[in-house]
Amino acid sequence: MTLDRIIADGRIVGMPASPGIVIGPVHLLIWEVPDVPLVEVSDEAIPAEVERFQKAVEKAKQRLSQVKARAERHAGPEEAAIFDVQISILSDAELIQKVEGLIHQNIAAEKAFDLVMIEWRTHFARHAQPMIRERVSDLTDIHIRVLTILLGLPDHDPVDVPKGANAILVTHDLTPSLTVQLDREAIAGIATDAGTRTSHVAILARSLGLPAVVGLRDATTRLHAGDQVVLDGSSGMLIPRPSANLIEAYTDRALREAADEVELQHLVGAEPVTLDGVRVTLRANVDLPEDAEFAAHSGAEGVGLMRTEFLVVGRATMPDEEEQYRAYKKVVAAFDNHPIVIRTFDMGGDKLPVGGYPTEANPFLGWRAIRMCLDEPVLFKVQLRALLRAAMHGDVRIMLPLIVTVDEVRQAKKLLLEAAAELDARGVEYRHDLPLGVMVETPAAAVAADTLAREVAFFSIGTNDLVQYTLAVDRGNANLASRFTPLHPAVLRLIHRIVEVGRHHDLEVSVCGEMASQPLMAFALIGLGVRQLSVAARSVPLVKRIVRGVSARVATDAADAALNMQTAREAETLLRSRLLSAFGDAPFLRDGLPDFVDGNTFEGHSGP
Ligand code: PEP
Ligand code: MG
Repeated sequence: MTLDRIIADGRIVGMPASPGIVIGPVHLLIWEVPDVPLVEVSDEAIPAEVERFQKAVEKAKQRLSQVKARAERHAGPEEAAIFDVQISILSDAELIQKVEGLIHQNIAAEKAFDLVMIEWRTHFARHAQPMIRERVSDLTDIHIRVLTILLGLPDHDPVDVPKGANAILVTHDLTPSLTVQLDREAIAGIATDAGTRTSHVAILARSLGLPAVVGLRDATTRLHAGDQVVLDGSSGMLIPRPSANLIEAYTDRALREAADEVELQHLVGAEPVTLDGVRVTLRANVDLPEDAEFAAHSGAEGVGLMRTEFLVVGRATMPDEEEQYRAYKKVVAAFDNHPIVIRTFDMGGDKLPVGGYPTEANPFLGWRAIRMCLDEPVLFKVQLRALLRAAMHGDVRIMLPLIVTVDEVRQAKKLLLEAAAELDARGVEYRHDLPLGVMVETPAAAVAADTLAREVAFFSIGTNDLVQYTLAVDRGNANLASRFTPLHPAVLRLIHRIVEVGRHHDLEVSVCGEMASQPLMAFALIGLGVRQLSVAARSVPLVKRIVRGVSARVATDAADAALNMQTAREAETLLRSRLLSAFGDAPFLRDGLPDFVDGNTFEGHSGP
């Protein structure tokens, strides 16, 4: 792989993040703090400069009110509340006084505002209170918004695209909070310079069914607003200013993809059984409660992972017990008595309550997931109470993320008992016997899985994080995508170990990371002895096709051989050769595999 992945004919090549083809205009979103030149103003010009600043603040507030109304319409009042927070910050007397004070020292309005915002953001980012730290993203939004007005820059508001625009949102990096605000009737596809297949933006895009390409590196500088482009979410590329022939060829391919989708739909009611009769349970990952209906119609036998943090990202306040209870109940109601595994909040990393701008030096090694929940028991117990109540309506199971030690499980169990006692005290009905399981997504949990086994009801392997932490490769860093190799022998051996421990202790072991959605890797997982896979709802029929097309014995032989390979590349070649007789060299088998760094890049299935 060369670092410059731009193909000479103008295609901009990134990574496939969510399949599908969109042909439409670019909506360029440059949501970054602009550079501000230092300009001095004369004494006489000071009053006019103060007035210019005040007008800009008023304009920003008006704009925020419009944006809020829009967000309220398509995302709901809770999501829209972040704009109230921003309006109130802009009305803060201390902020206004500070900026005006600097203008009185002959500093032009934009620089004065810039300096105060830099100071405030730094101060907030270092604050001991997490809730204050989280306000940094609001300050950043305000910083950008007011400077855009003062500097007369084009206004690219993230949520301000007209309905029916069929636009392709092109931006450097999209935070989950922006993603949940997107109007799906306006934005038809997403393209980002940053990110990888396992970054949460990609996961959410798949969940929303929005075609997406990530890791494009410099699409934002190569494209202009309004440019016509083809977004090819399956091959992972953008083609600017396509010719009539190319549009025709892509329209053809979109039709073929749609026909394959229809064919896959025939598998929805089929049993996920291998050729030699081994039953594999396929469940769906649900990221937003609204997706549950769709997931239930994909043929999934329940939910193997509900990511609850998407109830929180992009909001100014945490959802209360009642709101969470309704959200969980909605997911339970969509499935007929199938298990619904709901994961407690996995906030932090690249999923932050508001905005998504990390305020820690190493957010993925930081105050994340179970760590945050155990340190904020009041917040955590609200969720636990909602889960206990939702379990009245179906087979709810609780799953703890990012577990490293047995103590974390014990502390969580203690809080679960307290949450139950609180419901008792209120006389509210709930279910007592909820199975509690853990995600195995750190090397510590995998290697010491036996220590956890005695404390939990099930394991679910989160390969997105397990690969990240085992290989020390940031899952969201586009520059490292070729090094994010789930077929690395270390990862395969850890998965193998977790399955063995599960078998020994008679515990269910499932895989809910992206690896399970990728056909070649699903084959490897079956071979490693995994009998439960939880995949993006849209991938359920595709993975079922794999299950039904292979024999477990062949998969086991292949996995045994893969475990002894020296490199991920060798393991991939071996697994592919074993699948040849079942599927030929079908392009879908390449889905999700990285280009390797050794120069032997395989030919992507590029173009229509
Ligand atoms: C994982 O880490 O594999 C996982 C399923 O959780 P998330 O992607 O939300 O971190
Ligand atoms: Mg994870």
